[in-house]
Amino acid sequence: MSATIIDGKAIAARVREQVAEDVRAFTERTGRTPGLATVLVGEDPGSVVYVAAKQRACAQAGMTPFDHRLPAGPPFEDVAQTLSDLNADPAVSGILLQLPVPAHLDGPTLTGMIDPGKDVDGLTPVNAGRLALGLPGLRPCTPLGVLELLSSVDATLEGAEAVVVGRSNLFGKPMAQLLLAHNATVTVCHSRTRDLRAVCSRADILIAAAGRARLIEGDFVKPGAVVIDVGMNRLTPEQAGNSSGLVGDVDFAAAVQVASAITPVPGGVGPMTIACLLRNTLDAARVQAGIQV
Ligand code: NAP
Repeated sequence: MSATIIDGKAIAARVREQVAEDVRAFTERTGRTPGLATVLVGEDPGSVVYVAAKQRACAQAGMTPFDHRLPAGPPFEDVAQTLSDLNADPAVSGILLQLPVPAHLDGPTLTGMIDPGKDVDGLTPVNAGRLALGLPGLRPCTPLGVLELLSSVDATLEGAEAVVVGRSNLFGKPMAQLLLAHNATVTVCHSRTRDLRAVCSRADILIAAAGRARLIEGDFVKPGAVVIDVGMNRLTPEQAGNSSGLVGDVDFAAAVQVASAITPVPGGVGPMTIACLLRNTLDAARVQAGIQV
């Protein structure tokens, strides 16, 4: 058997087109344009690239990008003041603090200062709590993107055994909560899980987000499972066997023989994150304009 390859690039492009169309309708109806503010502290090369991509995507969707950059060593108070100014600015619908922030700053505390109604990354304690309680709120973008990819192959979540490898606040925990909300039976694995292979091989839906290159081998995958690879690990092009040097957490060549559907790296989950960020920004703007989402 060879699995269906889930084309995250194409699915993300469709989501982005839909968001652009919905932004036009929103602006016609309200006279407002949704705005997304990114806050980048320091010059980490990876973060610079991510922020530029988010700014570009925002403009392409017809929203206004606001680009806030602080030098590498600002005092906590300066970053907090920037966030507070953006919270108060009615032109800003969504705020994204690019993580990680430099080590001298307290990222979780800063994230928690973002107005939950503008928290388009869905990472504030208020939105994490609302997700855990099953209440409406802004949800983290990468897990939302994974749900979209699962739906693209009509994966049945209700009653399915879903295994998430990784328990980060950014991805693993909210992913597990979203799957639970869709009535999956969810197991969350982490670095102390005793027999990862045995747990993974039970999964109808297997989602890997450990940040460990090719951790998930072919025999971790149940025949017919849907495999979503969130991991992004940088190797040399020779080690990776591709020009980008990027590989996921799944041994793709082995898993593709066993799964029913699988995401590639790159071109799977990655493009969905920005698409879902744009949709969250529009949703935040709608709520701020008094429109039901
Ligand atoms: P993280 O905060 O480093 O968390 C990694 C998780 O994996 C932790 O819970 C850790 O367990 C677990 N883990 C590590 N080694 C393991 C092992 N050998 N067996 C089982 N579990 C193990 O990472 P993250 O932010 O969630 O990101 C995970 C990966 O997804 C990274 O490669 C990241 O680049 C990628 N990512 C991609 C996107 C995207 O848009 N494509 C978005 C977010 C993340 P402990 O808790 O016990 O330490």
